[in-house]
Amino acid sequence: MRFDVVSLFPGWVASVADWGITGRARDRGLLSLHGWDPRDYTHDRHRTVDDRPYGGGPGMVMKVDPLRQAIQAARHADPRPARVIYLSPQGRPLDQAGVQRLATLPRVILLAGRYEGIDERLIQLEVDEEWSIGDYVLSGGELAAMVLIDACARLLPGVLGDALSAAQDSFSQGLLDCPHYTRPEVVDGLAVPEVLLSGDHGRITGWRRKQALGRTWERRPDLLAQQELSEADCRLLEE
Ligand code: SAM
Repeated sequence: MRFDVVSLFPGWVASVADWGITGRARDRGLLSLHGWDPRDYTHDRHRTVDDRPYGGGPGMVMKVDPLRQAIQAARHADPRPARVIYLSPQGRPLDQAGVQRLATLPRVILLAGRYEGIDERLIQLEVDEEWSIGDYVLSGGELAAMVLIDACARLLPGVLGDALSAAQDSFSQGLLDCPHYTRPEVVDGLAVPEVLLSGDHGRITGWRRKQALGRTWERRPDLLAQQELSEADCRLLEE
């Protein structure tokens, strides 16, 4: 999957692939990141990318032209069609279903705003989708772009050591994940649940499913309300 990131700090966003799972994805050739600085598409001495808002008010607004040219340059850098995504607090809240769809795309151009945001006409002309990473306001879209890249990268085939680990993550099947334990068996008097030491894979699977259902019910009943529970799930909850 190829990401092109249009940002005043493209190197910062690209650094998301310097570590961990995203780094492994890049090293295996499954993920590539390319930065485009709108300042490189300005024509004045100060490399100006922002201007005062029409109508007055505080802050500055990112101008259309430098962003538009950066997006066009990114589009032409690869023959495959690209979706242009603006990271914005006004976008649709990013969720796992959205990430799953985005991770199937061969190419995405991410647009990170700064200041008070971007001239609305650039969004109308160039942007296909707007996504928010939560109901709070960041200083810029770079961290949001990194969040989106990381969430997509772990779903790319061949990135995770065991493909099942993404499939059992929270939200993948509409539920929160079950609790996890590793050695030692007892920590400050807290023992690993006996079933996990039993070697009985049927019981372990049932226990994990029950924990996932219970946790979701306790912490995110909104998720459970969207689920159609199987008879087996209902039996587990009654046990
Ligand atoms: N005035 C804008 C508003 O209230 O909608 C906020 C501008 S914010 C200071 C600057 C940039 O940060 C935005 O253009 C956007 O790219 C990014 N940003 C801020 N919060 C975000 C969020 N929750 N999700 C995604 N991007 C965000």
